[in-house]
Amino acid sequence: MNNEKQLAQARMEQLRQQLNTYAQQYYVQDNPSVPDHVYDALYKELVDLEEKYPSLVTPQSITQRIGGKVLESFKKVTHDLPMLSLGDVFSKDEVTAFVTKIKEQLPNATFMCELKIDGLAISLKYENGLFIQASTRGNGVVGEDITQNVKTMPTLPLQLAQPLSIEVRGECYMPKKSFAKLNEQRQEQGLTTFANPRNAAAGSLRQLDAKVVAQRQLDYFLYNIAQFDSLNIQTQSQSLDVLDDLHFKTNHQRKLCHTAQEIIDYIDTYTQKRTQLDYDIDGIVIKVNSLAQQAQLGNTVKIPKWAIAYKFPPQEVQTVVRDITWTVGRTGVVTPTAIMDSVLLAGTMVSKASLHNGDYIEQKDIRLGDTVWLHKAGDIIPEISQVILEKRPKEAQKYVLPTHCPQCHSELVHLEGEVALRCINPMCPAQIKESLTHFASRNAMNINGLGTRIIDNMYHTLHLKDVAQLYQLTMEDLLKLDKIKEKSATNLLAAIENSKTQSLEKLLFGLGIQHVGSKAAKLIAEHFQTMSAIMKASQQEIESIPTIGPVIAQSMVVYFSNEQVQQMIDELKEAGVNMLYQTEQQVTNGDLLFKDQVVVLTGKLQHYTRQQAKTLIESLGGVVTSTITKKTTLVIVGKDAGYKLIKAQQLNIEQMDEATFQELVQKAQ
Ligand code: NAD
Repeated sequence: MNNEKQLAQARMEQLRQQLNTYAQQYYVQDNPSVPDHVYDALYKELVDLEEKYPSLVTPQSITQRIGGKVLESFKKVTHDLPMLSLGDVFSKDEVTAFVTKIKEQLPNATFMCELKIDGLAISLKYENGLFIQASTRGNGVVGEDITQNVKTMPTLPLQLAQPLSIEVRGECYMPKKSFAKLNEQRQEQGLTTFANPRNAAAGSLRQLDAKVVAQRQLDYFLYNIAQFDSLNIQTQSQSLDVLDDLHFKTNHQRKLCHTAQEIIDYIDTYTQKRTQLDYDIDGIVIKVNSLAQQAQLGNTVKIPKWAIAYKFPPQEVQTVVRDITWTVGRTGVVTPTAIMDSVLLAGTMVSKASLHNGDYIEQKDIRLGDTVWLHKAGDIIPEISQVILEKRPKEAQKYVLPTHCPQCHSELVHLEGEVALRCINPMCPAQIKESLTHFASRNAMNINGLGTRIIDNMYHTLHLKDVAQLYQLTMEDLLKLDKIKEKSATNLLAAIENSKTQSLEKLLFGLGIQHVGSKAAKLIAEHFQTMSAIMKASQQEIESIPTIGPVIAQSMVVYFSNEQVQQMIDELKEAGVNMLYQTEQQVTNGDLLFKDQVVVLTGKLQHYTRQQAKTLIESLGGVVTSTITKKTTLVIVGKDAGYKLIKAQQLNIEQMDEATFQELVQKAQ
């Protein structure tokens, strides 16, 4: 072996090892340590070297394998047909070269262009029209059985209109908004955050508990019919149309192209539009449209020869980290934020990026003065991809993590199973202020005018310690606050007073119990109806509610077993805060036409059926009964009214004719 070849062999070994490590972090742990374009560049270097020295290709090389390891915790599924990956290209010239090569062999070939959804591949089997199994791609030959988890996607048909036995494939993804929300929650809960929606979707689909998956709001697009029973399909575009007809979700931004130029125009369009989509895409997939031509071109062990993926260039910019600040959240989690030189990134000026937790800073070895690559995870959240070591100033010191709370100076701790640093002092001013802000927020008690500035002011001047004390505030108290005049004090007191009537789930969410988001609060309140029932409920009882898992249930039980909490709830009760669950109708019925009225209908109405009138009255806050009693407050009188009208007159109950009823109802609606 000559010297050059030996050097190449050594480099190939190095690349394989490095890529194996990255692939393990990405596919198995759902936690990549480098951005995709870094991985892609190393991968391409290996492919180029293997092409130059084919004798040095080993069967174990990552270029000969698909995806990652199959997790032991799941039942394995052997795919009837392998689930392949795609060959990547990174320039439009390579796209043109691909088209030219295909056209040389198949001059009449056309190409289906589709968005490359950044999620993970799933395969779904239906037998006689019934959904029977879902699996991940795994290593392409064997995947993981994720049937239960896939069922949590409400958009997936469990039964087809025709009794077909088919296997269909597509991409499961997490919408950008769900990704941003999930990471925010995880950070607040002291858990590791996901690097991007793709890893979040993969991590979610491979949860062992389907209840957790349901909360993650996953979705899918199908792009392939792998086995199609009696369906007569000749092209990729027909496959997609058939999937639509079968009520599967497909992505409609697809386009059939005839020339390389048309494909490049399509690429340009979606390079522009990608940030406006609700889901992340990382490129464009270009497929030969005819299935017969696809079969003629064939596959390698890893990729089809009839398709390629054009990968978008990374949207990254460089900037310098000037400072790292730490903030204390409502549950005591202390979160670092990088303060950087302002830069324009994917359409917005960015100067801050969350660093999630101390481990993150240590893993990436971020130091003050470092120049870093910055991108937007899921096109939304600014995130540091990596430090550019060559630009590190000589004097840059390893960043030392804080040991004490930046607000109350008590010692920070690591709770078991958490990556976050936590301040566990319940009297920490930051936590008290954050919990008051959360309590007043829109999805909680919705106290208008009670924002962070005034809460800060209240904390320092009035020494507010918990949410119950909000209901003890007087005009005199509020006037002690800086810059508060009588008018805004009156408004604020009224807003606090109004919040007392909020339905139970708002209060439950407002208390800020760990892991209990607004959706969980609603389900729990609806199930138990009263605060006292919730407080008495066992973990098992709470867990019996569909989609509520053990983490939430345990957190609820621990929270309500605290004596300080019980006392605070008593104080809220005494202040007149509502402790009952009310339906939306009951809440909005506040000042409605028939509020508190007990209504009886008699005689024949000309414009309404009995049922219509009843529904109208109820929607306007009234209750309709069939017999007249002392509790009846109003009788609506139609044509030929008989005995009930006489009884109403005897009992001196207010009466209303149909014309008046109709007029009032029309005005009220
Ligand atoms: P891939 O994601 O590049 O492409 C193949 C996949 O694209 C298919 O399996 C399918 O799931 C998906 N896809 C989405 N839309 C599609 C459509 N319309 N039609 C067909 N397929 C569609 O290949 P891969 O093997 O899954 O993974 C390689 C990717 O993973 C690379 O982009 C690489 O950057 C990334 N990766 C990153 C790291 C890291 O450390 N950052 C490590 C390993 C892999």
